[in-house]
Amino acid sequence: MSSPRNIESFILEEGSTMEVTENNPPASEYFGRLTFSGDVMLKRLPPDVALSLSSTIENGHSLDPMVANTVAAAMKEWAIEHGATHFCHWFHPLTGSTAEKHDAFLSVNADGVAIEKFSGNALILGEPDASSFPSGGIRDTYEARGYTAWDGNSPAFLLSTTEGVTTLCIPTAFVSYTGEALDMKTPLIRSAQAVAKQAGRILRFFGSDTEVNQVIGTLGCEQEYFLIDQELFRDRLDLVTCGRTLLGASAPKGHQLDDHYFGTIPARVLSFMTEAESRLFELGVPVKTRHNEVAPGQYEVAPTFETTNVAADHQMLLMHVLRDVARRHGFECLMHEKPFAGINGSGKHINWSLSTDTGINLLDPKADTHTNLQFLVFLCAVIRAVDLHADLLRASIASVGNDHRLGANEAPPAIMSIFLGEMLTDILDQFEAGKPRKTMKGGKLDMNADSLPDIPRHSGDRNRTSPFAFTGNKFEFRAVGSTASVAWPTTVLNTMIAESLDFMAGQLEKRAGKKPTAAKRESAVRSLLKEVAKDHRRVCFDGDGYGEEWTAEAERRGLSNVRDSAHALPAFKSRQATSLFSKYGVLSGRELKARADVLIEQYVAKLEIEGRTMSSLLRTEVLPAALRTQAELADVVGATQVAGVECPDSEAELRLIVGLVSDLRTAVDEIDAAVSKGGKDPEKHSKELRTTLVPAMDRARTASDALERRIPAELWPLPTYAEMLLVTR
Ligand code: ADP
Ligand code: MG
Repeated sequence: MSSPRNIESFILEEGSTMEVTENNPPASEYFGRLTFSGDVMLKRLPPDVALSLSSTIENGHSLDPMVANTVAAAMKEWAIEHGATHFCHWFHPLTGSTAEKHDAFLSVNADGVAIEKFSGNALILGEPDASSFPSGGIRDTYEARGYTAWDGNSPAFLLSTTEGVTTLCIPTAFVSYTGEALDMKTPLIRSAQAVAKQAGRILRFFGSDTEVNQVIGTLGCEQEYFLIDQELFRDRLDLVTCGRTLLGASAPKGHQLDDHYFGTIPARVLSFMTEAESRLFELGVPVKTRHNEVAPGQYEVAPTFETTNVAADHQMLLMHVLRDVARRHGFECLMHEKPFAGINGSGKHINWSLSTDTGINLLDPKADTHTNLQFLVFLCAVIRAVDLHADLLRASIASVGNDHRLGANEAPPAIMSIFLGEMLTDILDQFEAGKPRKTMKGGKLDMNADSLPDIPRHSGDRNRTSPFAFTGNKFEFRAVGSTASVAWPTTVLNTMIAESLDFMAGQLEKRAGKKPTAAKRESAVRSLLKEVAKDHRRVCFDGDGYGEEWTAEAERRGLSNVRDSAHALPAFKSRQATSLFSKYGVLSGRELKARADVLIEQYVAKLEIEGRTMSSLLRTEVLPAALRTQAELADVVGATQVAGVECPDSEAELRLIVGLVSDLRTAVDEIDAAVSKGGKDPEKHSKELRTTLVPAMDRARTASDALERRIPAELWPLPTYAEMLLVTR
């Protein structure tokens, strides 16, 4: 029975709940509020213009210039109402991050009359100076002209800083004066087109094209990240310049207890997540899932999948918003693949599939999979693509940061293999043996507890150790690094699969002959699937990808295992890669070579920044602290001996510290030498740095971390792992 007091507090509680509800309207009410699409577009454009723009967006065509002026005027009104003073073409240069050049709406004419202006031309086309963006030699600095062109398929949006400065951002592609791609978006769009075209041929072969206008790539990206206290971040030069700790002894507690994964999200983190999510909802990014990840201080966020191009833009926005909002909550959001040694790093899983514009997922195996020949053709095309182009897939995720993750027994190995699961493996076995007759069923899990429901069990388990896993109705590419723009790995994946679908379609058309009967068609599919399965199943592996046995087994199967990026990236320079990318119109030979050069140059530049940062930290922070410790200890030993007392333990400790300091000095000298050596040929230089600088940095770290464990806490100059990972929440 409630006392009056209880009733009163109940009413108060109820009141406050209502208040909270009023302050936080359901996300559906403000989803996409800051994008020029959907409702906003319908309300602000004349119906014929809105129709023309939506058909542009739906069909992936470019915008009719006639409607551009009307769209621009409406966009300007809308942006100004939201407080925007400037607009920018927002694009993804080869730096891997986004770029924007702002122009004011304000325009003052010769008579000094000021008005806000935004023309259709300014919406569609921009002309930023391209000379300072990486181009891989496509252009020289004196050839400055570059163009940005509106990608009408990705909605324009309003980006506000936390201080309330709002800019109208127009997603654009970025090309040189000669029309060559200088960005991530152009080849992504081209590759999505290529894969859609070849997939369409398969659909036509199966006669299932009656209502389908086009095939669409779908992409869902899961993002892992760390949060640490902003103040501690600023105290670490390595985090500021490299995004990762180059030094640091492990904290006494890591993830041994598995108590962080899916644990209760700390309140401060949850506030951050909630604010980041609302900002993303306003920007039309459909974030769905949030949870604690394995390592202390590590979290994950995942939006629902979208079309490839939009998902890739949204991924960049997501990283931007996470970083921005984190700072408001006193955190720094670390996207690096391996911010802390000894605990799990961060990845970005890209979930990839193809769908028809009528919404049918082409990678859905459906109930009787062994009879779903169309699905099996798509499946085998992917298997064939990954087997034939494994080196390109490996190279697509190569970066200095990801080198710390791949193969480090926490992330998939550098061997590109596919997990299929029991059901599909069984069907391919049946194909190889003859005519498949059945599809394995998952059945039900009886929990043996009356009050709990039976659980319908999937026909295959999950495998978290595979770099490329079939996960029910899509492939999940799990080896992508957490800082990466998803555009590039997706471009490579699309292109490889376009080639494979082209091959499959060609073979099917040939084998079935003109005007094939159903029987002829079926026998063409069966014979092709059997051959492809036989030739390419070596790339399928359902076992433990972290185990050493797999490395040996993969070698026996002839699969490559390229352990570092310096050796992985040159794959883009091969003749095979050049003809693949140019055949499907994704990148010309020159464009691909330029891209490879930029990636290799970035690898070198980032490693050198790490080397210089480490040298600076060690010489100016760690060594002075170590020498002070050494001096204090020497004083103790001296004073003790003067007093006529033996002190073998202190002497041993002193000797140990002197030894570590000497190791550290040697390693820092090696680092300096490796960094200052330079090199004319970037590919050769990258491999040299990998074999000289990286091991020297490892040696320096070993000595420094051993010293950290011995130097008095008040003398240790840097925030420790325990402070950064355990204390701040
Ligand atoms: P988990 O990988 O943990 O099982 P989910 O199954 O929820 O997580 O899916 C992870 C991501 O895969 C989400 O972004 C989801 O939207 C995306 N996804 C689901 N279906 C598809 C699809 N057909 N194409 C692309 N991505 C998809
Ligand atoms: Mg997943």
